[in-house]
Amino acid sequence: MPGRHFLQIPGPTNVPDRVLRAMDLPTMDHRGPKFGELGQRVLEGMRSVFKTEGRVVIYPASGTGAWEAALVNTLSPGDRVLMFETGHFATLWKGLAERIGVVPEFIAGDWRSGADPAAIGARLAEDKTHEIKAVCVVHNETSTGCTSRIDEVRKAIDEAGHPALLMVDTISSLASIDYRHDEWGVDVTVAGSQKGLMLPPGLSFNAVSEKALAASKTAKLPRSYWSWDEMEGPNGTGFFPYTPATNLLYGLAEAVDMLHEEGLDNVFARHQRHGRAARKAVAAWGLETVCANPEHYSGSLTAVFVPEGHSADNFRKVTLENFNMSLGNGLAKLADRVFRIGHLGDFNDLMLMGTLSGVEMGMELAGLPYRRGGAQAALDSLTGREQVQAAGEAAE
Ligand code: PLP
Repeated sequence: MPGRHFLQIPGPTNVPDRVLRAMDLPTMDHRGPKFGELGQRVLEGMRSVFKTEGRVVIYPASGTGAWEAALVNTLSPGDRVLMFETGHFATLWKGLAERIGVVPEFIAGDWRSGADPAAIGARLAEDKTHEIKAVCVVHNETSTGCTSRIDEVRKAIDEAGHPALLMVDTISSLASIDYRHDEWGVDVTVAGSQKGLMLPPGLSFNAVSEKALAASKTAKLPRSYWSWDEMEGPNGTGFFPYTPATNLLYGLAEAVDMLHEEGLDNVFARHQRHGRAARKAVAAWGLETVCANPEHYSGSLTAVFVPEGHSADNFRKVTLENFNMSLGNGLAKLADRVFRIGHLGDFNDLMLMGTLSGVEMGMELAGLPYRRGGAQAALDSLTGREQVQAAGEAAE
């Protein structure tokens, strides 16, 4: 098909040409003198993205590796961890925790909201003997498009007076949705390269607090590849204990520069604005978003229910075949009931409008019942026309 493929899944995201060009270089000697400069630049750069003065660890791995790293570096066999069922990714993290020998307690959720700080606080308050060693929350649940309030989770832990570590998965929020590792007192932040950071898949990260580092000194789960200790010495001069993903690191240095050129606050505002416009389209179509809590709406993606009795996967197939656009599928219990629109990473107004036009045309061709005018509602949101109209109506 002519023209560019529209990759509108909620990650991996579109890789900007600047990042592609930055990676299109010969691979250098990862033990040679120039590598240390690159290593120091990306480790320092990622501190600014996580908003931390503490340590950042970079793995040549997908996000799942960084999930495992967070747990094996800080916990011992049999330790209890409190996790919140925000959706499919929280469930996967829980499964991983079980497999490596810790004991997760899962607070049930309905997949239509972010984590509930009050429920977390209440469970911690009951835990008088401090058996729970960590609270694990997915900041932006990519299967539902719900963003949890990490500042409120922190507050709930503090109000319960509980010493558990706070671990947060920011795989689909870092560099898209406001995030503050130090200010929110997060102990381990988990992230990946393939979403807000605008890189291909293949890098993942832990940002680590002093408290988490101290926990790692006595934690007994076996670890080698993921060991923060093994990283520490070489990272001091920008090197790694094993072969790093050199060309992805070239791209990471460029992506961090791009984020700072735009300004992180502008990046976050851009994502919120696109999320708002996408939700206007969904409402105008007469459809429902999976996220039912307006306080938890996501700036990175919008997950949408198709009407009962219709197939979301057939609609996505029609959209791919006719318009060369990939939309995210419904995951686990949302399979075939939901499609997900990714609006994160290297993304602008016209890309959003192309995406929403493709969704609207796809619904028409796939025979989904919908009201026309969603793309128009998004246009009005982006141009500010809806506010002007609303002000006019209020004045009348
Ligand atoms: N956590 C979240 C919130 C995700 O969106 C994903 C992947 O999409 C993961 C974890 C797993 O990361 P990966 O597939 O890179 O291993």
